[in-house]
Amino acid sequence: MTAKTIGIIGGGQLGRMLAMAAARLNFRTVILEPQADCPAAQVANRQIVGAYDDPAALAELGRSADIVTYEFENVPVLAAERLAEDVPVFPPPKALAMAQDRLTEKRFINGCGIPTARFHAVGSQADLEAALADFSGKGVLKTRRLGYDGKGQRVYRSSADSPAGGYAALGGVPLILESFVAFEREISVIAARGADGAVACYDPAENVHRDGILHTSTVPATISDATAAAARDAAAKILAALDYVGVIGIEFFVLADGGLIANEMAPRVHNSGHWTEAACVVSQFEQHIRAVAGLALGNAARHSDCVMQNLIGDDILSVPDWLKRDGVLVHLYGKTEARPGRKMGHVTELKSRH
Ligand code: AMP
Repeated sequence: MTAKTIGIIGGGQLGRMLAMAAARLNFRTVILEPQADCPAAQVANRQIVGAYDDPAALAELGRSADIVTYEFENVPVLAAERLAEDVPVFPPPKALAMAQDRLTEKRFINGCGIPTARFHAVGSQADLEAALADFSGKGVLKTRRLGYDGKGQRVYRSSADSPAGGYAALGGVPLILESFVAFEREISVIAARGADGAVACYDPAENVHRDGILHTSTVPATISDATAAAARDAAAKILAALDYVGVIGIEFFVLADGGLIANEMAPRVHNSGHWTEAACVVSQFEQHIRAVAGLALGNAARHSDCVMQNLIGDDILSVPDWLKRDGVLVHLYGKTEARPGRKMGHVTELKSRH
């Protein structure tokens, strides 16, 4: 039997971990990424060095792969749609379209019957002032597109925070003002949907951010069974509405009464799901490969409690110490330069076993 080839758009750590999971199931992988010797290409069969929207590079990917997936949500939708004419692309390109623009995303999530923060589209300083007035001077202003790790955001904590210059400060691009959510904690759910419509959902993780970047994901999250069930239910609704195939990550705020407010969704494997490689038999990476390849989904049950911690920048220097500890899975991304804020690897420490 000839091995099938999975094309992965994007060559970062998520692509790397997808390629490793793919290899274990006898798939070959080809990575499309402009940066040579990227983290994913180091463990893949082949790299096409090219931009994500380069027609020639995409055509080459389409010719080389039996299935194409992606590791980040900013793949140009048109490029994904064009590629999907030649080769199956999962998750479906419409999931990219929904996740790339925070306004479209919130409308879509609300349309699934799932609450989000209230929001206004902001296209000018006057829009910003009107929107802030509607939210009593408080809110979180975000770029509609291309924000990540808290970049492209400005928080208005009270009516004492002047809105002056706020629109221009975020670059004069289309923005969204969200009402300020007084949440008690943040959780995320990693869920998968197979080509046959089967859904598998991992237990929600409780996430702590530092400087806008995920620091730890702890499982189980400190939430009631009802809140966990509501998070799973929301994930199932989103997956069905998108006729989705693959893994998705959905972030929520948890209110004091246990209510959930959806924040955002990522149509890909997610940093807050890295713990699954240590605490579940089938990780989010293998689950995604199974889904996009049309194989049966694995059981998403967790055999251990655990804490995943990102190694950011100089945290990489702590690896020798982590390696001396029992029950810790260390995973490094092959990045040579440890710049501040750069994700270099992660560790997952298993706590009690079930
Ligand atoms: P995001 O880029 O949307 O994930 O936002 C980054 C972080 O900012 C979130 O993880 C929250 O901690 C905080 N945040 C974002 N939106 C809101 C909001 N509407 N209300 C309160 N905090 C928020």
